[in-house]
Amino acid sequence: MIEEPVGEDTGTVDQLMKNALSAFGAYKKISPVKRAGFLESIAAEIEKIKDRLVILAKEETHLPEARLYGEIARTSGQLRLFAALLKEGSWVEAVIDTSDPQRTPPKPDIRKMLVPVGPVIVFGASNFPFAFSTAGGDTASALAAGCSVVIKGHSAHAQTSSLVYAAIRAAIDLTGMPAYTVQHVLGSGATTGKELVQHPFSSAVGFTGSFTGGRALMGYSNQREIPIPVFAEMSSINPVVLFPDSLEKNGASLASALIASITLGVGQFCTNPGILLGIKGDALTAFTNVMAREIQKTIPQKMLHSGIHSSYTKGIAEMLGQKGLSVIGQSGESAGSLEGLPVVAKVSGNDFLKNDHFAEEVFGPFSLLVECQDKAQLIAVLRHLKGQLTTTLMATEKDIREFGDVIELQQGLAGRIILNNVPTGVEVCAAMVHGGPYPATSDARFTSVGTSAVKRWVRPVSFQNFSDSMLPEALKNDNPSGIMRIVNNIHTRAALH
Ligand code: NAP
Repeated sequence: MIEEPVGEDTGTVDQLMKNALSAFGAYKKISPVKRAGFLESIAAEIEKIKDRLVILAKEETHLPEARLYGEIARTSGQLRLFAALLKEGSWVEAVIDTSDPQRTPPKPDIRKMLVPVGPVIVFGASNFPFAFSTAGGDTASALAAGCSVVIKGHSAHAQTSSLVYAAIRAAIDLTGMPAYTVQHVLGSGATTGKELVQHPFSSAVGFTGSFTGGRALMGYSNQREIPIPVFAEMSSINPVVLFPDSLEKNGASLASALIASITLGVGQFCTNPGILLGIKGDALTAFTNVMAREIQKTIPQKMLHSGIHSSYTKGIAEMLGQKGLSVIGQSGESAGSLEGLPVVAKVSGNDFLKNDHFAEEVFGPFSLLVECQDKAQLIAVLRHLKGQLTTTLMATEKDIREFGDVIELQQGLAGRIILNNVPTGVEVCAAMVHGGPYPATSDARFTSVGTSAVKRWVRPVSFQNFSDSMLPEALKNDNPSGIMRIVNNIHTRAALH
């Protein structure tokens, strides 16, 4: 039973990292099934205190109760998903190439699998106090991989972060994990965060937040004697292409659905549809008129913290000041203290292409419609965009037949391409890619959501000419855990004879 938040671990960064390294040495040897039990125990401990967590998080983040309860369920579900991955076991990608002494030259026995990299530094995100924070996806996937974790909690929900950490500590005690498998610090990113990233015992970094923050962490890593991977999810405006036939047939419902998505959670989602692209014409005008009506009905709500609120207010003012931009509509109510005013605006394709500022992220309930002259300009605008987390096509069968080249361009742009759904809402599952080309993330080959997120915290190792008794369980001849392996180029769960 957790009485009070245990707050943060004290001591120097050097001491924390020594603890993290020694915990890693012990934790990586713990069986996958026991590690799974640890993850399940964290989920259970969080659920036991969910009412207290929601009270704290509501106070600190201004997010509504229903959203916070939902996010706790997502967080415990995510921990259990990684536990299931560990129990099944095949994620280690075991590959066996048996020897052939008769070959000239003789072929050695070589076996490969993924092993954990070492202590991981996790930066909690402000916009998901549970699912992308202390016991969120980065921590859950790093623990699943067999890494120890040091969390830099986000100052905007320090109390919530500390109470979640208390649940993790309870799980460490209950399941007999090494004491320092997970540690938690608060404090400034530019000082404590930098020291953590640059400590020689740190092996990798997980981050969700601003472009500036992500770039700073990448810079800290590059200044190290031995740079380490920084998996940063940073900035995305998630282009939605409104194809002509779809606009003609479904314009009004698309406008309502998009306004709901733009303003969901006060627009504080990395998958917020921040830019809408369409080709000029009556259908686009009718769509714009419905957007104007729908945005008028929305109500400004409190944003996560004063920093996000002031950068939204500044971002909107800067955007609205750009030449060629006109406001389509905004909330009919004025915004109070800390509240983000929902706004939608438009710009012509010509003006968009002349000014890079139009492609900048404004984090909050804002979206920009780009009215393109024709298909060629739509293609030019898409080519002008940087890497994205998502891109959406609102398209009928006819559009799909006629705009194959545009859709192909969209595929090259983002980690997730969506047909006739809004981009907000990221399912936690094995097939999810929550990643994308720079600057959406620092490394487009990985995802921070879903079971593949574990791949950020491992590296492949080949064992050449090892005797069976010396090999890790996943590579032993009799395949004791029955995992799927590639043996001499064939996928199989069978033992080797
Ligand atoms: P943030 O400023 O990037 O901060 C996130 C974390 O990184 C915090 O722990 C922060 O430490 C640390 N950090 C920031 N700059 C750093 C630096 N130069 N060196 C070391 N550590 C640093 O993000 P935020 O506070 O959540 O929100 C600010 C803006 O980020 C928003 O307005 C929005 O534009 C963007 N954002 C994007 C996403 C997304 O999903 N892509 C999510 C949330 C926010 P401190 O505690 O010292 O600040």
